[in-house]
Amino acid sequence: MVKTLKKIAALAGAVVLSATMLSGCAKEKEADTLVFGTNAEFPPFEFVSSNGLIDQYDGIDIAVAKKIGDDNGMAVKIENMEFDSLLIALQNGQIDAVIAGMTVTEERKEAVDFSTPYYVAKQVMIVKEGSDIKKAADMADKKIVVIQGYTGETCVNDMGYDYEAFKKGTEAVMELVNGKCDVVVIDSATAAKYIGDNEGLVIVEDDEAFASEEYAIAVAKGNDELLAKINASIEKMIADGTINEFSAKYAEGSAE
Ligand code: GLN
Repeated sequence: MVKTLKKIAALAGAVVLSATMLSGCAKEKEADTLVFGTNAEFPPFEFVSSNGLIDQYDGIDIAVAKKIGDDNGMAVKIENMEFDSLLIALQNGQIDAVIAGMTVTEERKEAVDFSTPYYVAKQVMIVKEGSDIKKAADMADKKIVVIQGYTGETCVNDMGYDYEAFKKGTEAVMELVNGKCDVVVIDSATAAKYIGDNEGLVIVEDDEAFASEEYAIAVAKGNDELLAKINASIEKMIADGTINEFSAKYAEGSAE
């Protein structure tokens, strides 16, 4: 009986949840659906697929989100939106959490709370085979493309180089394939995926120029109850090898 009532309540769950969050109450959540926001343009972490794991969405992050739901007896819903909109949607209560290969940064930490990190990555350069770009400083007089709002943009900006920002990784890589730019700066595992999908591209690493980055799930500031659930699940997935399993399943070649 309680279960049936819960199910009925779940139908109205999304509405109840956003109303609760908008009013700013820290009441215990009654909805049993967890809504994750992502930007499904970031393989192998999230992408659109004809046979997705949750609706049309698949990837390492989608598998992690599903596991968090399973561990907590909650259904998982994915809301796909622009990367730049994710933290705003979180603050508005439109979504419960962000899972988007999102790097923990000091700036983002001012706006949201992050979970235990579940993946280590770094920025790399994708160039055409035979390029004379061998280290980050070689980009100085080159045409650089980044993806808007990604940490790669921040890195290139901090280096003081001019660049053009695209909305999607695939668009950035097409610029390179078509010879319209010399280098794309993007996260390592995603770069590995793109060079696997496009002939004639290689990855150039420069560990002195690009620091390592940690991906974590973001929740609204102060949503400690959800954060604790997410952390418990992530820590279990790290300890029992589930994250490694998902990474190996979705990553291309020797992607980290
Ligand atoms: N890790 C990068 C960032 O946080 C890119 C993430 C993404 O595009 N999904 O900015």
